Amino acid sequence: MASEPWGGDAGVAESERPNCQQKSLQGIKSSTTANVGGSINNTEDDDENIVDLAANSLLNKLIRQSLVESYHQVEVLQRDPSSPLYSVKSFEELRLKEDLLKGIYVMGFNRPSKIQEMALPMILAYPPQNLIAQSQSGTGKTAAFVLAMLSRVNALELFPQCLCLAPTYELALQIGSVVLQMGRFCVDIDVMYAIRGNRIPRGTNITKQIVIGTPGTVLDWCFKKNLIDLTKIRVFVLDEADVMIATQGFLDQSIRIQRALPSGCQMLLFSATFGDSLWRFAEQIIPDPNVIKLRKEELTLDNIRQYYVLCEDRRDKYEALCNIYGGLTIAQAIIFCQTRQDAKWLSVQMAQDGHQVSLLSGELTVDQRASVLQRFRDGKEKVLITTNVCARGIDVKQVTVVVNFDLPLNQAQEPDYKIYLHRIGRTGRFGKKGFAFNMIEVDKLPLLMKIQDHFNSNIKRLNTEDLDEIEKIEF
Ligand code: ADP
Repeated sequence: MASEPWGGDAGVAESERPNCQQKSLQGIKSSTTANVGGSINNTEDDDENIVDLAANSLLNKLIRQSLVESYHQVEVLQRDPSSPLYSVKSFEELRLKEDLLKGIYVMGFNRPSKIQEMALPMILAYPPQNLIAQSQSGTGKTAAFVLAMLSRVNALELFPQCLCLAPTYELALQIGSVVLQMGRFCVDIDVMYAIRGNRIPRGTNITKQIVIGTPGTVLDWCFKKNLIDLTKIRVFVLDEADVMIATQGFLDQSIRIQRALPSGCQMLLFSATFGDSLWRFAEQIIPDPNVIKLRKEELTLDNIRQYYVLCEDRRDKYEALCNIYGGLTIAQAIIFCQTRQDAKWLSVQMAQDGHQVSLLSGELTVDQRASVLQRFRDGKEKVLITTNVCARGIDVKQVTVVVNFDLPLNQAQEPDYKIYLHRIGRTGRFGKKGFAFNMIEVDKLPLLMKIQDHFNSNIKRLNTEDLDEIEKIEF
C-alpha cells in the first residue's frame, strides 16, 4: 500500500473545521437531557460547547496510544431481533484475509476491543448490515470500520469502493493513517483524500479504492467534478457523527451524499456521544440499522483526597504550592489556572525556581498541544500547567496530583462543578487514588463549600506552613 497521502497533489490549504457559531445555533445542547448542575451522573454530550469538538477529538486521537477500557456491557439493538447475535473473542474468528490479519497483529492488537467484539461480526456479516455505533473516544471504533473497509474492498477493481466522511481534514488524515497501517500488507489497496487542497482535475480517473474526505469536498468530487461514482460505493462510513452534526452544512452535505448511494451499500455511523439530535440524524441517514452502544465509565471523586489551602493572593498561592511540592514526593502534577495569563505567570515562576514545567494553553495548535502532552506523558516534564482548555480530553494516567491554582468558575462566578469533576475526577473502577489541592482566596471559601456540598465530599483544610501536616499526607 502506498503511503503517500495526497494521491499526487500538493499540500492541504485549509481545514473544513466546524464553525462554532453554527454549532451553537444548531445546539447539540438543546436536545440532550443535560444536567446543567453537573452532577456526577451528567450525560455525555451536554458539555461540548466548551472547546472545539473537532480539535478535541483530534487531540484525543493524537495522544491516545492504547485502548480505553470499559467495564460496561455493550448494549445491542438488532434490526432483526430474531437473528442470532454473534460476538468474537479473537480476530481469527472473523476469517479475515491473511494480509489483513497480519496488519492487525503488527499493530499490536491481540484481541478485539469490547465494542469490536460485537461490532465486527455485524459489520463483516453477509449480506452487509448497517450499523450505528456509539462509544467514547479511544474504544476502537476507527479500527473497526477501517477493518470493514479493508475487508470489503476488491483490490483488483480500480475505482472508489469505500467512502468515509470525517469532519475535518486532520481527522480524515488520521483515519487514513490507520488504513495505511492496518493495510500495510494489502499491497494493492490504496487510499485517496478528498479534502480541500487536494486538487484533482475534473474527470480524473481515480483508481484508489478507499476515499476518505470531508463532506464539502466529497460532495464536489461526486457532483461537480465527477471524480467519484457514488453508485459504485459498497461501504459508506460516517465518522465522528456528533462533531459532524454540529455544523449544519456538514449535516446537509452528508445527507446529500448518502441519498445518492446504491441500496446495497453498507452504511456505518460512529459517534462518541449520543444525544437526541444525533439519534435523529443517525436514523435519517442509516436505514434499518443495528445499534450498538457502550456506556462511558463515570467519573467519581470517591477515590480522590481533596484539600484546600487558604491564601491571600496569587503570590501566597504560589508559596503554598511550593511548600506542598517541596514537602511531598510527587511524580507528576497538573496545575489548573483560570486564565492563560495566570498559567503563563505560574510557569515562568516555577521555571525560575528550577522546576521542569510545561505549559498547555488554548493558543497552541492541536499538534503543539499533542506534543506537549506527549512529553509530559513521557515524564520529560513533571508539572503541566494549563487552563480549562485541557480540563477534559486529557487522560494522563500517571498523574495523581491535581492542583486547582484557581477554582473553576463559570461566567456568573459560580463554581463550575462539571469542570471541577473533569479536572480531578477519575473513573471509579480503574482509578487509582488521587489527590487534589485547591488554592483559594478567603473570599472564595463559600464557593469551595458549595463544591463540597454539591459532591457530598470532604475537602480538608491544609496548612502548608506546617510541614508535618503535609508530610502526613500519604501517597
Ligand atoms: P476510537 O475510534 O473509538 O477513538 P481507535 O480505533 O482510534 O478508537 O482506537 C484507540 C486506540 O486503541 C488506538 O491507539 C488503536 O490503535 C488502539 N486499538 C484499537 N483497537 C485495538 C485492539 N483490538 N487491540 C489493541 N489496541 C487497539
